[in-house]
Parts: sequence; C-alpha cells; structure tokens
Amino acid sequence: MMNMALQTTLRGHLVHNEPMGKHCSWRTGGAAEIYFEPADKQDLILFLTQTANDVPVTWIGLGSNLLVRDGGLKGIVISTLNKLNDLRLLDNGNVYAESGVTCAKLARFCQKHNLDGADFLAGIPGTVGGALAMNAGAFGFETWQFVKSVEIVNRLGHLESRESSEFKVSYRSVELAHSEWFSASVFCFPVKTDDEESNIKPLLAKRNASQPIGLPSCGSVFKNPQGDHAARLIEAAGLKGFCIGGACISTKHANFIINENNASATDIEALITEIQHQVKQKFNIELNTEVRIMGDKL
Ligand SMILES: Cc1cc2nc3c(=O)[nH]c(=O)nc-3n(C[C@H](O)[C@H](O)[C@H](O)COP(=O)(O)OP(=O)(O)OC[C@H]3O[C@@H](n4cnc5c(N)ncnc54)[C@H](O)[C@@H]3O)c2cc1C
Repeated sequence: MMNMALQTTLRGHLVHNEPMGKHCSWRTGGAAEIYFEPADKQDLILFLTQTANDVPVTWIGLGSNLLVRDGGLKGIVISTLNKLNDLRLLDNGNVYAESGVTCAKLARFCQKHNLDGADFLAGIPGTVGGALAMNAGAFGFETWQFVKSVEIVNRLGHLESRESSEFKVSYRSVELAHSEWFSASVFCFPVKTDDEESNIKPLLAKRNASQPIGLPSCGSVFKNPQGDHAARLIEAAGLKGFCIGGACISTKHANFIINENNASATDIEALITEIQHQVKQKFNIELNTEVRIMGDKL
C-alpha cells in the first residue's frame, strides 16, 4: 500500500483503499489505493505539487462511464465532482464551468440565461470534465461543438488555457496528453430567439421511454459502428436479457448492461467480451467500447 507523505494540510477529503463502486454508476469495482476529493482548485494544485510525479493519477467525474476492475486502481484517484464547481456567465456571454459541475446543472444554467444548444446535456449523468474527456453527446449534439477553450491542469499542478482548435476531437473521444486533465471550460452557446422553447423536458421524456434510467448502468456500453447501431446488432444477435453472473443486457435497450444482482466488474467485463464475440461471429462487425475500462484484474 502506497503511503502519502504530504507536507501542507489539505482541505479536501483523502482516503486510502476506497471502494470505487461507491463512485461509479455501475455500483461495482475494486478499490483505489488513494482517493482524493479536493476542496477547490487551489487545494487540487497543492495536492498535485506535493505528490511524487511517478505516482499514477486517474481523474473521475461522476463515474458514469467507468468500469474499474475488481483488482482496483494503483496510485491516486481524483474526483472533482461538485468540488471544482464554479459556474458563471462571462461578460461576453460565454459560460465558464469548472470540471466538477454536472452536465444537468450546466444545461439548467443555460436555460435560465436564455442560451441555446445545451439541452442535450440535461440527461447525461456526468460532469463537465467527463463530458469534455468523452466528447459526450446525444440527440445530434456533442460537447465539443460548444467548447471555445479549456483550462488544463498537468501532473505538476500547472494550469494552462488552450483553444478548442488545438484538440483532435472525434466521436466520444478527444486526444489529451498523458498526465493532463480538464479543470474547466469556456463554452459558447448561441442566444435563444424569443420563440424558442426549452427542449429539456421532452428530451428527458424521450430517454425515459427508451432507456433503463434509474438502474445501475453506464449508459451505452459500445460505440455505434459506422452506419449502424450497437443496440440493434446486440438485439439481432439474440442477446437481449442475456446475463453473466449479476450482469445482464437490458431488455429495454440492448446497448445497456445492468448490474441486476451484485455483479462484479469481472461479470460485466465477461459480458462485454461475450457480446463482442457474438456480434463479430454473426455479423463480422467489431464493437468497440465507449465505456472506459481501467484497473487490475483480480
Ligand atoms: C443512464 C446513462 C445515460 C447516459 N447517456 C449518455 C448519452 O446520452 N451520451 C453520452 O455521451 N454519454 C452518456 N452516458 C455516459 C456518461 O454519462 C458520459 O460519458 C459522461 O460524459 C461521463 O462523465 P463522468 O463525469 O461520469 O465521467 P467519468 O465516468 O467519471 O469518466 C469518464 C472518462 O473521463 C475521464 N475524465 C473524467 N473527468 C476528467 C477530467 N476532468 N479531465 C480529464 N479526463 C477526465 C475519466 O478518466 C474517464 O476516462 C450515460 C450514462 C448513463 C449511466
């Protein structure tokens, strides 16, 4: 077990051997050696400057797209959820949001300030940091469409602002250097015209009708292959409702895996592998995971 020798008192919350199931929407997973929630950005920077550079760091937001294997995560996990929480309208009408702000809060903030385009974020159960890292999207919109610039923090605790044009962005992915993370973003949403209604309610209703909301899942497990839908392929392979251990393919939406009965991360990963195998065998199509799988096997 790693030991943290920190010189200055941190104001955040630091624990050893923290079960990651508490911080992931699948409600399962191994433990983090060190788990840290900074009190704010200054506290985060202090923490990064005080920890040895060779200790691996993993950032998480709401854990709504994460599978942490049962053997756990080495090094440090940093969670900024509701901690890096600054959200404000800038003089030029752009929106500044720190990485721990939830997507739902950002969507409501934009609605309140008569800004258009952010409604799709209302139903994505993640943080701004996670939405940036994943280029989260729904209903034809993607996060990076609205990013003007981002604030990056590196392993040494240095902050830097970068324009969105400096990033290579694609479907559910952004290229970010190793040991750099998003601490905040400036978004540019267009101003609504007078007669435009908010779409938040109808979009949430649409989700509720088609997805198993409220059950422990990570949303869509696989990226949609070019010109097709992962859910359609999984259903056509006859896998809806199929389970391994406590992990089951949703009968409502076949691209969702539900932790129905105390599934381990091993159960979920085995089910992911089985789906990939069956879809490859039946349709000769490779399904790639959207979900980020990390940590050690038991
Ligand atoms: C019911 C349900 C519905 C969903 N619907 C959608 C949807 O419609 N569209 C969609 O795109 N996704 C959807 N998701 C998946 C998930 O909500 C998104 O991917 C979300 O953006 C993840 O944000 P998070 O804060 O939970 O990130 P986490 O799951 O905590 O992390 C995801 C990845 O981002 C990295 N990361 C997190 N924060 C930072 C940071 N500050 N800097 C750098 N890297 C960071 C992590 O290391 C990890 O690799 C859904 C999930 C659920 C459970």
